[in-house]
Parts: sequence; structure tokens; C-alpha cells
Amino acid sequence: MRKSKEARLRRRRTRIFRLSGGKDDQRALAYASTVLRKGGLVVFPTETVYGLGANALSERAVRDIFRVKGRPSDNPLIVHLSSVDDLPLVAQQVPALAKRLAANFWPGPLTLVLPARSDVPKVTTAGMDSVAVRVPNHPIARQLIAGAGVPVAAPSANLSSRPSLTSPAYLLQELSGKVDVLLLAGNSPIGVESTVIDVRTSPPVVLRPGGLSVERIRKVAPSIVLPTFFRENSATDTNPPRSPGLRHRHYAPKARVTLYVGPPSLVWEAMRLRRSALRQLHISLALLVSWESPLKGEGVWKFGSRYTPSTVASRLFRVLRDADASGVQEMLVEGIPIRGLGLAVMDRLVRAADGRVIHVRGRKRRTGRGDQGLAQEPKFSDGSLP
Ligand code: AMP
Ligand code: MG
Repeated sequence: MRKSKEARLRRRRTRIFRLSGGKDDQRALAYASTVLRKGGLVVFPTETVYGLGANALSERAVRDIFRVKGRPSDNPLIVHLSSVDDLPLVAQQVPALAKRLAANFWPGPLTLVLPARSDVPKVTTAGMDSVAVRVPNHPIARQLIAGAGVPVAAPSANLSSRPSLTSPAYLLQELSGKVDVLLLAGNSPIGVESTVIDVRTSPPVVLRPGGLSVERIRKVAPSIVLPTFFRENSATDTNPPRSPGLRHRHYAPKARVTLYVGPPSLVWEAMRLRRSALRQLHISLALLVSWESPLKGEGVWKFGSRYTPSTVASRLFRVLRDADASGVQEMLVEGIPIRGLGLAVMDRLVRAADGRVIHVRGRKRRTGRGDQGLAQEPKFSDGSLP
């Protein structure tokens, strides 16, 4: 049985289409839609990250997603629709707040967890009675899903536990020969996955920070709560996380990642010292830092502005993969403030670091006041540091 599954994985011939906005796009999209409808696997661009899609209502097709990704079967998939009007296909009931959020943020990088219809296959929802749903805001994704005429289950296209895929080069490397169709359309504009909210409870809960900032969601849902993502995922925590995906190791490059958090000038200094120490030990390393950092030299990768987190989000997974491809043993990464998309960025980095977070703190000044920088530094929603 096992052998034949592996054989099926090996046999796939991948059709690759580079979409450029021209006339040929329509032919490629029509082909990919048919493949989806018939139960095949199609990788497609969204505004967040690339997705690995299959017909959400076909148990067999969805099983193939889990198999190709090596995704644990207890981690449910997000179901993508081309329009909010299709919600009744998968959701049993839509609370008023969910309707308001959808009206404000769909199409867009927001996923709502709703009561599932009983005919949504259990493999899609990982056996839960809820379903996560999103209407993406990417013309190719929407045309593809509309053309397929079925809801499309699509997790991030990366193999399980690896950084998400946001650029054509890494998609080709990781998925050629594993799926039926690859639709390539440049780098993902937002670069981190959607924000996931459970709207079945009052107040609603953010299960995963993502491409829509909590600050913007609060304008529509002021009572929304952020659980303690980071503690929830720690080895010492005994409460099961509400979002099954949080249980698993995620976004991990091959190199060992350490995240540095604190006032930027102290963080850069700590990273510089660590670089010297590791070099003495002949350990190869990469430093991932913001544009504002004065660190330079071999192995330094710049990932965007610490004060404009959307610039970091859009580059994050690519830079993690670029640095990893250089074959280093260690990565030291500068943490950024958790405002706006900075929360999603830090969530991904804490997981990539598998909890290895160094808090760099300033010394008290003679005046008795703390280091000015500390007052503005990242603190998670519950006041804790990661
Ligand atoms: P990915 O598709 O890899 O971006 O991950 C989807 C995320 O949505 C994971 O963290 C899942 O655990 C989460 N998710 C999907 N469906 C549900 C659900 N029904 N309830 C709670 N979380 C969900
Ligand atoms: Mg994922």
C-alpha cells in the first residue's frame, strides 16, 4: 500500500506556466481549473504566499495535499472561495461578526474559522467540526477558483515545516514533479500567510497573526483577543493550542536560527559579538538584519525596514531560504517591533528559531531611568517577551 502511494507521488508530470498578464494566461488558467475540478493538485499564487490547492470537497484530492507536503493529518486546511457568496458551500452558519469582517476585509488576507457543513470531508478539517475559509485577493487565485467551480483547499505550498514559498525559483525547486500544475506569477506581494480568526466565540480570537494586522481588525471587531501565541507553542505549555497548526514545528530553515530581541543598537552589538565568537570556532553563519542595521560584510542579509514591517513580511521567507541556500550552520536574526505586520513576522521568526530567543537588555543609566529604547521594544500581547 505504502509503495503504491510513493509511486503515485513520483509519477506526477508537472505542467509549468509562467503567467505574465497576457492572453496565454487564460489558457493556462482554464487548464489548471479543469485539473482542480478533476481532483488534481495545482500550485497557485495568492497575495499572501503560494498555495497548494485541491478540490476541498474531494477526500482523495485533499489526501494528496497532505501526502505531497508531508503535512501531519491533524493540521486542517484553509478552504479558498472566489466569492463570499459561496460561503454556504462549506459553512453551516455565518455569525453577524463574521459577515462584518468578510464585508470589510474580503477579498484579502483574512481567514475565518466557522462551523463546518457536515459534507465538508473530515480530512479537510482534520476531523474538526469547524472550517477555515478565505476569499483571496489575487486575480489569478480568484479566476482559478471561479473556473474550477469548487471550493479549493490550499495550505501554503512549502513542504511541511519548511519556510513558506513566495518566489518562483524556490517553488520550482521544491515542487517540480510533485504536483500537476505550477502557476508562477512573481513574488508574493504580502509574503506572510493570512491572519486566522475564530469567529465562533465571543470575543473572537486570533489563532494566527498574519497578513492583515490586528490593529486593522480591531477597528471592526474591537473585542478581538490575542492569545499567548508564543507561550502556547512552548515546550512547557500543557494547554492544547486552539489552532492545530500551532502544535507543529514551522518555517524552519536547515540552519539553526537564533532570534535577538531588544533595543536595536544593543541587538546589533550582541549579534556582532556572537559573529566574532562563532567565526573563531569556524562555524559558518548568516546574519539577517534590517536595512537600518550598520552590520555588513560576508553573510549579512538585509530583510527590509524594521520600522515598515510590510517590507520585512514581503521578503522574510525568501531571505530565510536565500541565507539557508548559502549553506550556513547558524542564522542570527534581528527581531523587529511587533506593530502591524511585525506581529506576524515575529510569530514566524520565533517558530523558525524553535524558541531560541535572546533578550538583549540595556544597563540602567546613572540617572536611574531605564534605557530609553526598552520602553518601545517588542512586548507580546500579554506583556511577555517571546
Ligand atoms: P497553512 O494552510 O499552512 O497556512 O495553515 C493553515 C492554518 O490555519 C493552520 O495554522 C491551521 O491550524 C489553521 N486552521 C485551519 N483550519 C482550522 C480550523 N478549522 N480551526 C482552527 N484552525 C484552523
Ligand atoms: Mg503553512
